[in-house]
Amino acid sequence: MSDTTRDDLLFIEGEFVSAKSSARVGLVNPATEEVVGHVPDANEQDIDLAVSAAQRALPAWRAISPTERARLLDALTDGIEARAAEMDALLTKENGAPGYWAAYTGSGGRFLYKNAARLAASLEVEEVRESPAGRSLLQHEPVGVVGAIVPWNSPQVLLASKVGPALAAGCTVVAKPSPETSLDTYLLAEIMNEVGFPPGVVNIVTGGRDAGAALVRHADVNMVSFTGSTAAGRSIASVCGEQLKPVSAELGGKSAAVLLEDVDLGLFAQSIMSEVIPFSGQVCYACTRILVHRSRFDEVLDLLRTTLEQAPVGDPTDPSTMFGPLITAVQRDKVEGYISSGLAEGARLVLGGGRPAGLSKGFYVEPTIFVDVRPEMRIYQEEIFGPVLAVVPFSDDDEAIALENNSDYGLSGTVFGQDLDHANAIARRMQTGRVMVNGGRGASRFSSLRKASGLGTVGDMDSLATYLQTKNITQPV
Ligand code: NAD
Repeated sequence: MSDTTRDDLLFIEGEFVSAKSSARVGLVNPATEEVVGHVPDANEQDIDLAVSAAQRALPAWRAISPTERARLLDALTDGIEARAAEMDALLTKENGAPGYWAAYTGSGGRFLYKNAARLAASLEVEEVRESPAGRSLLQHEPVGVVGAIVPWNSPQVLLASKVGPALAAGCTVVAKPSPETSLDTYLLAEIMNEVGFPPGVVNIVTGGRDAGAALVRHADVNMVSFTGSTAAGRSIASVCGEQLKPVSAELGGKSAAVLLEDVDLGLFAQSIMSEVIPFSGQVCYACTRILVHRSRFDEVLDLLRTTLEQAPVGDPTDPSTMFGPLITAVQRDKVEGYISSGLAEGARLVLGGGRPAGLSKGFYVEPTIFVDVRPEMRIYQEEIFGPVLAVVPFSDDDEAIALENNSDYGLSGTVFGQDLDHANAIARRMQTGRVMVNGGRGASRFSSLRKASGLGTVGDMDSLATYLQTKNITQPV
């Protein structure tokens, strides 16, 4: 099936079926502004059909052995690997991801399916525990049907972080991608069929906020696993709270990179495109607040300015591109609004601030650096989700920590310093779920979400626990 024939199709019970909804969402390539396809904006009836399919598939899926579930997850990893180039190219067309980012998130997704297979293979569904109160048989059961909702920026890796462990635990899934990135998710559905997942174990419905809201409130969805904005997360968590339904919510961030006096600038330079401003800053963990020891401020600013000035901006299908377009015209306008607010509040631009020259189409904003930023400014406090950095000096550890923790968010962060005891001492004081010391190459994302960045635990280690519930069969000894 080619990616142009999806206009009215949803993936339910192992088949591409016509949506009941007649509403469609147009998919726009953010680099060319061309419409590249349409997908259904699923309505309540579509959601109900998908949830019913997932409920029907649940008894058989939870009954098969975790080892067989692991085998299918391994086959899925291989199936995606075989079509990785196709998947990456679709993503670039949908969300403007430059090749480096599409490949990075694609390989991250495969790692998470493989990891879920490993966890399934070692899953102990029952364990006996003795305590002074008696003998307990603890039975770890799947929570049931999971509603998985993801944003557009890294759909494959974020879906894998939900679908992988949910399937490994014995749950079935109804997934709703962001409408912008529906086509790559349909490719995932095709691969699931190819490798032999039973019908209904994973169902995919496309659509926007209303489709997501219908999925969240559906009475037969037993748990919601959401990644997206803090505003949507609050709304989803309140619906789940009303229904007393478990929810995991990975939300926004405004992370900081703390560069100590003994920062190794070579290591920091390697992290600029991966942790500081990946995918034009459209990444939850981007460390867009750069806090620098005063003695190294000028050097760091020079390094950042030179790196971003030299990074190729433009067509995301060009393999050399590091800064592609932003996802939509609305997002570009929002980022430009933040740049104006920074200037109005007295911050000073040292790089960028406008639209790149020579690009007549596409939702581009130049890589932008602000200095003279105060913590009360909107550009310091709010998640911009664009290529905008604030570089701020500090004089000592206490000031660095006060600046880092001056945020409603608590998703991620980095510390750079050659004295590892010192760097780790700073990391321990940061109010954030994950801290990468000297960069995050190969690091685990496992962490608890906190503050306005969410609820629950995310990442690779222990990820099955989110999708399991424990029954205690007990008797006195
Ligand atoms: P968004 O919240 O607008 O949308 C995310 C998804 O939720 C989409 O599929 C959307 O259709 C759906 N949705 C929106 N409102 C909903 C509602 N009320 N009920 C149910 N579903 C709803 O977010 P976005 O703009 O697509 O993505 C960017 C945001 O995602 C940023 O804030 C970013 O930090 C966050 N994000 C967080 C992580 C993380 O791991 N913490 C990862 C990636 C992105």
